[in-house]
Amino acid sequence: MDLDVVFLGTAASMPTAQRGPAALLVRRGSERLLFDCGEGTQRQLQRSAIGLPDLQEIFLTHFHADHFLGLPGMLKTFALRGWDETPLTVYGPRGLRELFKRLHPFLGRLPYPLAVVELEAGERLERGDYTIEGFAVEHGPEALGYTIVEPERPGRFDVDAADALGVPDGPARGRLQAGEEVTVDSGRTVTPADVLGEPRPGRRLVLTGDTAPSPLVVQAAHDADLLVHEASFLSSEAERARATMHSTAAEAAEVARLAPPARAHSRLAALLRPGACGGGARLLPRDGRPARLRPDRGAVPGARRAAARQGRGAASTWRIGHRTHRSPYHRAVMSAMVQLATAGDVAEAEEMQEILRKAGIDSSLEQSAEEDAVNVLVPEADRETAQEAIEALTEPDDLTSEP
Ligand SMILES: [Zn+2]
Repeated sequence: MDLDVVFLGTAASMPTAQRGPAALLVRRGSERLLFDCGEGTQRQLQRSAIGLPDLQEIFLTHFHADHFLGLPGMLKTFALRGWDETPLTVYGPRGLRELFKRLHPFLGRLPYPLAVVELEAGERLERGDYTIEGFAVEHGPEALGYTIVEPERPGRFDVDAADALGVPDGPARGRLQAGEEVTVDSGRTVTPADVLGEPRPGRRLVLTGDTAPSPLVVQAAHDADLLVHEASFLSSEAERARATMHSTAAEAAEVARLAPPARAHSRLAALLRPGACGGGARLLPRDGRPARLRPDRGAVPGARRAAARQGRGAASTWRIGHRTHRSPYHRAVMSAMVQLATAGDVAEAEEMQEILRKAGIDSSLEQSAEEDAVNVLVPEADRETAQEAIEALTEPDDLTSEP
């Protein structure tokens, strides 16, 4: 079953020329679930290869304008399609009904059934072969993040073992896969454990919406295959991040490290502001870009490394309300930026940036040609010092150095 997320809007607070405000589409098989619907989301979809799908379910994380202003327009577009039966359900935290009361004069009468469902943290929607659950985040009392969890699947059927035990092809194998014992011609009883591998854990996708760094998110994101964590500010703006209940990029990376998910993506609008990084950094994710969850969790490269990193003690230093006093961009970057290394994903790249910051070196990130990889750039004059700083604090196999 294909499962991926498509970033439709990765800006914070307001759209930019390249980025829309919050919106993310989850595609699972033929299902399409929209999470948040910032201004212009329907146009983001129309501009993408996806087009505007016949959405039946939309989830809001909270009711700040940059997360729902696209909804009235989208609902009106659906009305123009002349639907009369396909129902649409909007889910969100407490306050959703009140929001729709206020939107009513703008929406008018819709030709299709529209249901508005308020969810509490911990409430779970059963979907047969997966569940959606809301969890509390640190962004006002009602804001929710969402996890999408698939159940554990039985282990792989070992054909060689079944042959060796004399299990005939056909229904007997099906019964073993369904968890039943079978007796073979020799009179021997074969149990499912004889022919099935270890159960395969289901995939877990975690979307935070807006949030300050929070132990609740760390808990929800534990063992996630993919964590999408917001990051609206740089470390140098940590006080603003605290005041507005948002996260800095470094904090988002820290949450990812603590969880630890196999892969992490941050909304990194702040890094795109001209001059914010000296080098005009570009960072994943970009609007319109999908991030696919691999069908088999065991096959996710980098998971082991993420687990190894967790063991290195960063966990104990992180706490809620943590402030970053460093001013990472104290020097204007005038010299040419050169590539220092390639990180496997955003979280890894941010970890390297943090190490470089501690060494007093400004760095910037750019998307690598390789999928999901991120290049870390430093001023040419600082390259040697940067290399030493990285090597001193990381295991050699953590990084692919490309001098
Ligand atoms: Zn917000």
